[in-house]
Amino acid sequence: MLRCIIKKILQHSYVGEQGTSKGLLSAFPTALLGEHRAAVGHRSKSSLPEVRERTLIAVKPDGVHRRLVGQIIQRFEQRGFKLVGLKMLQVSEDLLSQHYIELRTKPFYPRLQQYMTSGPVVVMVWEGHKVVQTSRVMVGHTNPAEASAGTVRGDFSFHVSRNVVHASDSLEGAQREIQLWFKGRELLNWDCCDQSNTCDV
Ligand code: UDP
Ligand code: MG
Repeated sequence: MLRCIIKKILQHSYVGEQGTSKGLLSAFPTALLGEHRAAVGHRSKSSLPEVRERTLIAVKPDGVHRRLVGQIIQRFEQRGFKLVGLKMLQVSEDLLSQHYIELRTKPFYPRLQQYMTSGPVVVMVWEGHKVVQTSRVMVGHTNPAEASAGTVRGDFSFHVSRNVVHASDSLEGAQREIQLWFKGRELLNWDCCDQSNTCDV
């Protein structure tokens, strides 16, 4: 009976970014929870660093205007990645210039700035094994004219100036961008019930 109650509480609680327990879970002594997890064989597989890789994906203003947010999220969910952060916002010129810090001197930057601040963006953090590399493949070539069919850009756009989506291009870039766009408390650590069906690292 006690085991049953604790299991219910664990199912309805989550663990925040700093590893702090929230909700009803916080009322329980850590030792008791540790014993329970050992007893029921609970193991947070997503605590393994290679599975907990994270990347920043953003649906750009054209994607939001064209009602593509749902389809883009669906592709990442379908692939098996885990959503750990999501918000919609109007990007400021300052935030954009920090995001595209290496592109600020490019001739196309003024047009890029106008495009990216023309409406809201939906920015997300996705987690999973090799998510940075895999999401770049899923998003496709920067220039949609060269993007393969089956990629987001290859399926939804035809011009580099309106390429629908952003994806971090390296592990270091992803870390920098995630810190730029999200506060730590806006990201959630949570265990998928189907973790063993998507990954067994
Ligand atoms: N971009 C553009 N013209 C160019 C190159 C890039 O408008 O000739 C825009 C485009 O929206 C692209 C963004 O600038 O997605 C960032 O460029 P980057 O080279 O980082 O490509 P990405 O990482 O987005 O594939
Ligand atoms: Mg880039």
